Order: sequence, then C-alpha cells, then structure tokens
Amino acid sequence: MHHPGNVFVVSAPSGAGKSTLVQRLVQSVPSLVFSISFTTRKPRPGEVDGRDYFFVSDATFDAMIREGGLVEWVQVYGHRYGTGRDWLKEVLASGQDVLLDIETTGAMNLRRAIPDACMIFILPPSAASLELRLRSRGKDSDEQIAIRMKHARHEMELYSAYDYLVMNDDLELAYRQFESIVYATRARRERMAPAAQRILEGF
Ligand code: ADP
Ligand code: 5GP
Repeated sequence: MHHPGNVFVVSAPSGAGKSTLVQRLVQSVPSLVFSISFTTRKPRPGEVDGRDYFFVSDATFDAMIREGGLVEWVQVYGHRYGTGRDWLKEVLASGQDVLLDIETTGAMNLRRAIPDACMIFILPPSAASLELRLRSRGKDSDEQIAIRMKHARHEMELYSAYDYLVMNDDLELAYRQFESIVYATRARRERMAPAAQRILEGF
C-alpha cells in the first residue's frame, strides 16, 4: 500500500491505558484520524456505531474477508475485529495520518502490508497494576478479566516487535512521550524530504 500519510499502530495488553492515551491524542493532534475497526462483538454501554467501531454481523464480516476488504483481521475474546482497506486508503490519500488501535497479531500482519508503519506499544507498570486497572474500570466480569490477563501475557511477549515502548505509570508523562513520538515521526527526513526539496527549488 503506497500512501503519503503516516500510519501509527498502537497495541497494549488490555487495561494498560491505551484507550485513555489514544482518545486524548486524536483529540489534541491535528490531522490524526482514529481508525474505526469492524467488529462482530456487540457494543458496550456508551459505545456508538461508526465512532468506536463499525458493529457488523458475522455474515457481513465473512463477506468482507471474502472480498479482500480487510487489511488485517483477528479473532480475540470470541469476536472478530478487522481494519477496513478502502477507508484506510482514502484517509491516507487525503494526506492525514491514521492511528490504529489493534492487538499484537493484527499489528504484525499490518506491518507486512505497511512496512513503514510506526509501531507503538503501551506498557503497564506491572502485571498486578494491570489487573487492578481492569477491575477498577468495571467493564468486564471476573471471568473476562482472567481471560484478558492470560492474553495480556501473550501480548507482552511481542513487545520487541515494536519501535517504541511507552510506560504508562504516570499518565501525564506517558501522554507526553506518546504525543512526542507522533510529532517526531512526522519530522523524519524521508517524510519531510519532498517539502525540503520544494523549498530548495525556491532558492
Ligand atoms: P485499555 O484501553 O488499554 O484497555 P483503558 O484506557 O481503558 O485501558 O484504562 C484502563 C483503566 O486504567 C481505566 O479505568 C483508566 O482510567 C485507568 N488508567 C489509565 N492510565 C492510567 C494511569 N497512568 N494510572 C492509573 N490508572 C490509569
Ligand atoms: P475491545 O473489545 O476491548 O474493544 O478490543 C479488544 C482488542 O481488539 C483490543 O486489543 C483492540 O486493540 C483489538 N482490536 C480492535 N480493533 C481491531 C482491529 O481492527 N484489528 C485487530 N487486529 N485488533 C483490533
């Protein structure tokens, strides 16, 4: 996939604070668009179709896979999640950057499709604090928390495939690091070279 915009991929074990950081980032950074995934899971209270996810049926998801409409997709926690190809292409072609909040297996597949994607991993301070955050968030049952903790270990094992590791202990510090990564990536030479060239030609 060729594109002028930057692709940011953010993964973390569930409960590490990824949504908190990502929501603030997309509200504060101009020209950064959150990638809305397709999912077969049901909306949680407060979630809105077309804002948090595109909530679709199994049959619709099957059709999207068949027609090559997903850049990557996975099955986690008994549901399927995937990134829409057309939507991603359109946003990138418009020159905006896209941020994808996806789990590790999908992130590895996405890196194959978009090798220059900037890969960011959010670390919890410890396993114990992760479990505490999941409990205090109050959105999952005990059984779901146990499943998420098991999956968290598997996700943590893949940290070394990411370009940046942001430790979310102090939220403000973590946010500043996270935002800095986005701005620093935008300033990379290979990204800015066409602009520099245009300026040079004006001399
Ligand atoms: P994720 O999206 O990674 O599953 P959330 O952003 O929903 O995680 O955060 C899980 C819980 O932890 C939420 O209740 C959130 O308010 C809290 N949280 C996030 N970051 C911090 C932090 N740095 N310190 C303490 N609690 C945090
Ligand atoms: P949740 O059910 O908590 O919203 O999401 C569960 C997990 O699915 C999270 O780790 C989230 O990052 C991941 N996820 C959401 N959308 C996608 C997607 O399109 N692709 C992949 N691979 N993972 C996704």
